[in-house]
Amino acid sequence: MLYQLKSAHRGLLWAVLFVLFQKSLLPTDKLKEKTAQGDDESPHSRIRCPLCKWQPRASDRWFCGYSGPPENFIGCGTAWNTFDTRGVCPGCQHQWRWTACLRCHEYSLHEDWYAKDVE
Ligand SMILES: [Zn+2]
Ligand SMILES: [Zn+2]
Repeated sequence: MLYQLKSAHRGLLWAVLFVLFQKSLLPTDKLKEKTAQGDDESPHSRIRCPLCKWQPRASDRWFCGYSGPPENFIGCGTAWNTFDTRGVCPGCQHQWRWTACLRCHEYSLHEDWYAKDVE
């Protein structure tokens, strides 16, 4: 009887371990949650030029180059999508406070490009 209890306990333990193992094998639950939340809009859909409302696409590129005012920064020449990194150049780690619009060519504060929920 004592032996039977023990083996039953052991069986339960294995069942618990198996469930844990399965969970670690299938982290898709969390991934699904993430993609479900982002399904209604692409990552760039809430970003637009504060001045002309132009919406950058994922394929658009900004250059970390020499910029006059207001940033006054001599960049490293890297081309990347500045909204992938919230304005940080992946080449020299410079945090660009100002982001030029590729359509109207005016500078706006990087933060102003992110559309607020109240709009
Ligand atoms: Zn740079
Ligand atoms: Zn613009």
